[in-house]
Amino acid sequence: MTKVSYAANPLLSSGRLFPEPTSSFRNEFQRDRDRIIHCSAFRRLEYKTQVFVNHEGDMFRTRLTHSIEVSQIARSIARVLGCHEDLAETISLAHDLGHTPFGHAGQDALNHCMKKYGGFEHNIQSLRIVDSLEKRYADFDGLNLMYESKEGILKHCSIKNAKKIGILGERFIKQQQPSLEAQIVNIADEIAYINHDIDDGFRSGLLSIDALMSNYLFKSCAEDLWTKKSEINQEIFINEVVRRMINRMVSDLIASSQKIIKQYNPTSLEDVRAMPSLISFSQELLQHKLEIKHYLRKALYEHDKVLAMTDKAKNIINRLFDYFMDDPAQIPAGFKNGSDDGFSLTIADYIAGMTDRFAIQIHNNID
Ligand code: MG
Repeated sequence: MTKVSYAANPLLSSGRLFPEPTSSFRNEFQRDRDRIIHCSAFRRLEYKTQVFVNHEGDMFRTRLTHSIEVSQIARSIARVLGCHEDLAETISLAHDLGHTPFGHAGQDALNHCMKKYGGFEHNIQSLRIVDSLEKRYADFDGLNLMYESKEGILKHCSIKNAKKIGILGERFIKQQQPSLEAQIVNIADEIAYINHDIDDGFRSGLLSIDALMSNYLFKSCAEDLWTKKSEINQEIFINEVVRRMINRMVSDLIASSQKIIKQYNPTSLEDVRAMPSLISFSQELLQHKLEIKHYLRKALYEHDKVLAMTDKAKNIINRLFDYFMDDPAQIPAGFKNGSDDGFSLTIADYIAGMTDRFAIQIHNNID
């Protein structure tokens, strides 16, 4: 499908903070995608986790494989809706760059440590990475990304922080939407993690097929397989259901969003920003999605074994933060964040950039 008038368009963009000559063979969103893939924070996603800590096993998702799955789903949706597929890919690959080691447990712990100094938000951190922490170019810090890429990366932001970050924060104050490409990535993120957490949860032995069958969405995608359950290998059973669930969710999202877009009829990206969110599941699927998210929270994220892992992770982050606060000279001399906000922000930047295994290694060395 050709791109439509409400799709993001690099030629109509306010562009980059530092103007650069255009490329003769790539559009500006493609260049942003390539800059993300070549940056060091992106490579480190391989050793950062969401639910299962990296050393738990090699079969579980990492933030890198999660980001690639989000990108695959977002690109499929963007293409059908006539949006800019390259921008959807860029935002997907960058959306988790600012995450700390150890997933949400690490983020909560670092936020707690930083409470006195303004807190820690991983979305703001992603922006700090692409705006200043990556050091790759002679003429500027950061990756000098296009406005639309940064707008998509900054998925959430507190009003307090929105007031500090200039033009990118304005939409949170005015309660406006980002581009459709960014809206697509937000939901592709949800589709990816719900489904891969079911898969990883099953592999880890914490979720069972019998218990998963209590969810409407899972059950309705498994019905014909259930009758021949005894003949099917359990891993194949899960793979088949997850494959169907992704398909069901993506198909529903596309059909429902097409209806909403038709109803609001945006003719430009400016229209999209001023309208309510146009990318949404049907009411029916929203209910089923809520049910399965609730189930995953109870059965997986709050499972005793996962909570034991997250407690350990929080302790590691707390101890690292105290250690560097007591002795900031332990931060490698080469680590510069260009900030004059004092040690706390440098320490938060340093810890947030660590992989799971590096954080564990440093923690073990200070024992
Ligand atoms: Mg994500």
